Amino acid sequence: DLRGKYIADTIRDVPDYPSKGVVFRDITTMLADPKALRYSIDLLHERYENYGLTQIVAVEARGFLFAAALADRLGIGITLIRKEGKLPRDAYREEYALEYGESALELHKDALTHRDRVVVMDDMLATGGTMSAAIDLIQKTEATIVEAAFVAELLYLPGRKRLAEKGISSYAMVAYD
Ligand code: IMP
Repeated sequence: DLRGKYIADTIRDVPDYPSKGVVFRDITTMLADPKALRYSIDLLHERYENYGLTQIVAVEARGFLFAAALADRLGIGITLIRKEGKLPRDAYREEYALEYGESALELHKDALTHRDRVVVMDDMLATGGTMSAAIDLIQKTEATIVEAAFVAELLYLPGRKRLAEKGISSYAMVAYD
């Protein structure tokens, strides 16, 4: 799809960020480009419009941006997965590894039920640690996960494989070899 190529060209490579030898894919330039932003939501909308989704689950923080626009197009709501300590009510918690140390994600226990069908949205699939934790949280609610969706994925890291091992398929508009 030519729109994927257009989006890819608006994402900036930042060498040696956050540490030496790592190439960070910076989507701030993609978000600032009106056509790239529109294309990204168009692609997601076309893919998911006939899935009978009830909610888009959004992973903090950049997942929120795409989830908000997509949910509005689909006429459904947004369920937030937040970094630890931000949700005010009773929440499930999943720890996950970061480059240095660990962190945790949380989801309100009553946010979803077995009747929900969701797509989980984040900006980037790298090692898959973040999305794995998000999926574990959603599975505690017994909601059905249709797919994990990303703007971009790094194919040289094991993210897609890790999610597949959990039985979850991944969709990304842009892939980096
Ligand atoms: P993972 O947990 O290793 O898959 O990393 C994915 C999470 O880290 C996502 O929430 C991304 O926002 C962030 N991330 C990892 N690598 C990049 C990158 O190159 N660009 C932008 N975000 C990244």
